[in-house]
Amino acid sequence: MFLFNRKKNYGSGSVQSTFDIIKNKIETYKEKGIVVSVQENPMAICILTPVMKRVHNYEFAAETVFVDSTASCDESGASITFFIAGSMIGGIPLGCVIHNGQSEEDYWHAFNAISSFGGKGAPNVFMTDDSTPERKDLSEFFDSSRLLLCTFLVCQAVWRWLWDKKHDIEQLNRKSLMLIVRQILCETDITNCNELIDVALKDDLIIKYPQFKSYFEAIIERKSEWCIAYRQNCLTRGRNTNNLVEASIRVFKDVVLKRCRAFNPVALAEFVINVLETHHQKRIQKFASFRVSKPELEFKKFCTKANDLIVKKISYNLFHVSSAENENIVYGVHSELNLCECPTGIGGAFCKHLCAVHIQYGTQISTSPALSFEDRIIFAKIALGNDIDETFFQNMSAVEVTSNNKAGISAEVTDFLVPMMQNKEIENETVSTLINYYFL
Ligand SMILES: [Zn+2]
Repeated sequence: MFLFNRKKNYGSGSVQSTFDIIKNKIETYKEKGIVVSVQENPMAICILTPVMKRVHNYEFAAETVFVDSTASCDESGASITFFIAGSMIGGIPLGCVIHNGQSEEDYWHAFNAISSFGGKGAPNVFMTDDSTPERKDLSEFFDSSRLLLCTFLVCQAVWRWLWDKKHDIEQLNRKSLMLIVRQILCETDITNCNELIDVALKDDLIIKYPQFKSYFEAIIERKSEWCIAYRQNCLTRGRNTNNLVEASIRVFKDVVLKRCRAFNPVALAEFVINVLETHHQKRIQKFASFRVSKPELEFKKFCTKANDLIVKKISYNLFHVSSAENENIVYGVHSELNLCECPTGIGGAFCKHLCAVHIQYGTQISTSPALSFEDRIIFAKIALGNDIDETFFQNMSAVEVTSNNKAGISAEVTDFLVPMMQNKEIENETVSTLINYYFL
C-alpha cells in the first residue's frame, strides 16, 4: 500500500516519472497560488509559494538577495538553491530551485523563473559564496546587480589555504598572515584599505612565502567583492555575510527534512510547498502579532548606547550626532534617507546615531528594529495575504503620552513599550527603567 501510494504521488525512482508526476501537479499547484516551473534537461524545478510571491511586492526584496545551495537533499542527490531577502525580521525566501547539479545551465533556468525582486527585475546586490558557475550566471543574467562575497566565507577560504599542508606555511606565521587579510577586509575607508594593501605587499612575512604572495595578489584583484570599504555604497543594511541563507538551509534540513533525505525531487518540492511554507507563515505571523520581543529588545540596546550622544538639528532632514568614542567626531544623519555617515550606518544599517535622532526628535526611522504598526501590517500581509483585518495587529492598549514626555516620543516607541509592559517574562525593573527614561 505504501509503495502504491508513493508511486502514485511521487512517481517511481526514474527521472521520467518524476517529470510526468510534477507536470500533472502543476495545474493543481496553480489553483492554490503556487508557481512551479519545470525544465527537463538539465533538470530544474523552480518553486514560488504564495509567501515567496508576496515578498516580491516589497522594496526590501530588491535590496540585497542572499543565494546559496545545498546538495544531497533527496535519494537522487538533487541540490536545492535558496534565494533569501533580508528583512527586518530576518530572512524570508523569494524562491527556490531544485536541480541536479550546480552547473551554469542549472542556475540559468532558476534565475529566469525568479526575476521579479520587488517589481524591479533584479535586486541591487547579490551576496553569495565563491561558487564560480553561480556567480557567472548571476552576473550574466542580472547584469545591473552587484555581486558581493560573504566575508565569513572569504576568511574561511584564506584560513583553509594557510592550513593546507601543500602550501608549506609555518604554523607560527599562519595567524599573522590571516590577520593581515582580515584587517584589509574589515577596514571601512577605501584610502586606508588601499594603504593597508600596499603595506601588506611589501611585508617581509608575505615576501617570505611567494606562493602566499601570488594567492594574496589574486584575491586582492577581487577586493571590490569582499572588502567592506568597497561596499559602503551598497544597501547591505550591515549584512556582510551569507548567514541569513545559511540559517534558512539549516531550517530546511533540520525542521523541514528532519535530517533525512526526500524520496525524489517531487517529494522534495512537496516539502517546500507544504512544510517550509507553513514554517515561514507561522514565523512571520509571530512577529506581526507581538509574539516575538527580539526586535524591541534590539531597539532597547540601541537606546542604551544612544543615551549620551549629542544631537544637533542642522535642517529638517539633517542632524549632526557626536561619536560615542570621540566627541570631536560628528556624523551626519540624513533622516529622510534613514542613513548615517558612520561606518555602521553608511550601508543602510540602523545605528546608535539614527537611534539618538529618533529618541531626541521623535523622527521616524524606517530601519529601526522595533516594528511599527505599518511594519506589522506588511509582515501580516506577507504571511496571510492582503485579505486581513489590519486592526488586529494594532496595540490593544494605548499609552497616554503626557506633556512631560521630553523625548517627543513616537508611536513606534510606544508600540514596543506596551507589549513589554504586558510581557511578564521581562523583569519589571527593566520596564520601569525604560518608562522612566522615556516618560519622566
Ligand atoms: Zn551612525
